[in-house]
Amino acid sequence: MLEQEILDELNGALVEEKKRLEDDLERIANPTETPGDYETRFEDLGTDSDENATEVEDYADKLAVENDLEKQLKDVNDALERIEKGTYGFCENCQQEIDIERLRAYPAARTCIKC
Ligand SMILES: [Zn+2]
Repeated sequence: MLEQEILDELNGALVEEKKRLEDDLERIANPTETPGDYETRFEDLGTDSDENATEVEDYADKLAVENDLEKQLKDVNDALERIEKGTYGFCENCQQEIDIERLRAYPAARTCIKC
């Protein structure tokens, strides 16, 4: 089991990361009714075919970024949930304890280095 002090430290890091991800997401997407779910905004630049092409490209870029951020946010939220349940710090694959250095570098890690 992880010591409370380390858990608190990682919990704090996760809460900060969650806030950062939500800020980043809100810049390019709108939150939907489902918590943690976002919808990429489509910027309407104009009606010229040039503008339309830029809009579509722009949207595709944002969509990729949004999906990535949303995935990271889900990892962070899941990690926070595991801390609450007391199951945090174990590899989802082999159920071994995840190395503390790995958790410090990436608190939302689901698996150990080997997996
Ligand atoms: Zn593992």
